Amino acid sequence: MTRYVCTICGHQYNPGAGEPAFGIVPGTDFSSLPKNFCCPVCGAGLPLFREE
Ligand SMILES: [Zn+2]
Repeated sequence: MTRYVCTICGHQYNPGAGEPAFGIVPGTDFSSLPKNFCCPVCGAGLPLFREE
């Protein structure tokens, strides 16, 4: 699965790790994230993430 990085703060979304603190279980691919998902660090929305 591809990792994505926030273009605002550089936070990396790793599908293998998910974002358990935000209810995203490990193994959740980027394309399967809820539409309202935003960067846990800076709050940027999905469109501001790019493929790493
Ligand atoms: Zn961010």
